[in-house]
Amino acid sequence: MSIETRYRRLEEEIAKACMQAGRDPHEVALVAVSKTVGADEVSEAFAAGARNFGENRPDGLLEKAPLHAGATWHFIGNIQSRRIGDIVAHADLVHSLFEERHADKIDAAARAAGKVQDVLIEVNVSGEASKSGRAPDEAALLVEHCLGLANVRVRGLMTMAPQGDLAGARACFELLHTLRDELKAEHSSCEDDRFMHDLSMGMSEDWREGIAAGATIVRIGRAVFDDAFE
Ligand SMILES: *Cc1c(COP(=O)(O)O)cnc(C)c1O
Repeated sequence: MSIETRYRRLEEEIAKACMQAGRDPHEVALVAVSKTVGADEVSEAFAAGARNFGENRPDGLLEKAPLHAGATWHFIGNIQSRRIGDIVAHADLVHSLFEERHADKIDAAARAAGKVQDVLIEVNVSGEASKSGRAPDEAALLVEHCLGLANVRVRGLMTMAPQGDLAGARACFELLHTLRDELKAEHSSCEDDRFMHDLSMGMSEDWREGIAAGATIVRIGRAVFDDAFE
């Protein structure tokens, strides 16, 4: 099956899952995670209608982000201080912020670039040592910190669920949703109407659980780009 067919089919499945969950399909953005493929595959997905792409390495952004005017790029990988300039130069949304020191550097780089950087705070809901992200009970501190930075705008939260356990993934996503609502309520006077709007949760194996739990962004790699994925 071609990337085009896979992408279109996935889009339809996502729309169907939204309807089943009583949600408007337009509320959910499908980010095609292109970290394992090259420019040609990105072009195929673009031709199929994909406009949101995700990369987990700055070099992937540098290589692919300039290729298609009109595409939105998401940085979903580990943030390294020395690459923050490159990330800010090319990412429309950074999903993986969880440290104050990186927030400060993003703020400075964004100011130098004349932009305001949209970010999500990555939360380690499951508490697995192998996962990065902020502990849920410490997310509020980072949100507070970011609200003091003029060139950083917090759009919401991101998480990765434990693998191979769909019920566990669903529970993890529900917790992220609750945390998002709490953080939003704590800052109900915030004038930015997209503050804490987004929930980035769900990948190739667990996007259905993400949508059922209120995801506004799903990040999907293999189900779009890997013909062996079923
Ligand atoms: C690779 C990756 C994805 C996509 O994973 P698939 O299982 O290929 O859909 C999503 N989010 C992050 C943070 C990733 O690194």
